[in-house]
Amino acid sequence: VQAETLLEVNNIEVIYNHVILVLKGVSLTVPKGGIIALLGGNGAGKTTTLKAISNLLRSERGEVTKGSVKYRGQNVHESDPAELVRQGVIQVMEGRHCFEHLTVEENLLTGAYTRSDGKANVAADLEMVYSYFPRLKERRKSQAGYTSGGEQQMVAMGRALMSRPETVLLDEPSMGLAPQLVEQIFEIVKSINEKEGVTFLLAEQNTNMALKYAHYGYILESGRIVMDGPAAELRENPDVKEFYLGMS
Ligand code: ATP
Repeated sequence: VQAETLLEVNNIEVIYNHVILVLKGVSLTVPKGGIIALLGGNGAGKTTTLKAISNLLRSERGEVTKGSVKYRGQNVHESDPAELVRQGVIQVMEGRHCFEHLTVEENLLTGAYTRSDGKANVAADLEMVYSYFPRLKERRKSQAGYTSGGEQQMVAMGRALMSRPETVLLDEPSMGLAPQLVEQIFEIVKSINEKEGVTFLLAEQNTNMALKYAHYGYILESGRIVMDGPAAELRENPDVKEFYLGMS
């Protein structure tokens, strides 16, 4: 059976500052329950694509000038980011962005701000987050600014989970982390996907690792999708091997 489509990006073009054309017609589809990788080198347009989906471009003087973004068939182009969170779509930004002066646990609780289903459910989800990230439980009273890069990545992901998302847009979880930690983060993504049914759209430069965990991948080059396919096929593709695998 074909999985239901959650997110559909259709031929979007993004321009920064009215003149710089960065996305030149990007299309992609994210099915429910999938882990979909958006791959490509530095500056290819991965972050821009995620921000176009979650409507975070405006503060950067960027805009979608063509094409459409649909979530569950609804145009989300004009929704504000908080409305999207209520619809189940949340972005984990590149570079983590914790509230440095709050504790780990306080950071996680800020992720529940759009919810109105009561303290007991939020408390249960905090335990759910700690079950995936036991390290965060150990450090729950520490100020987030003093935790390691890997722990801050976990805080950012845990905070996103606290909104009970249907879809997480995850921007470069591997950035700046040691290989072993990267693997650990991807293992956690996989188990959240399998056990909680959370769908992931994952932007990554680490092609190797992303294709090991994703079901399907899109490769972005200078603002265009140049190749896409099931992850297993991309891993075996000679061009992907030559240009992307072994790169990171
Ligand atoms: P990275 O991994 O380096 O973040 P990326 O694939 O995510 O790369 P983007 O961050 O989407 O790439 O950037 C795509 C292009 O858009 C780059 O050439 C970048 O310089 C440009 N760009 C990004 N943000 C802006 C902005 N606010 N104003 C102008 N140009 C921008």
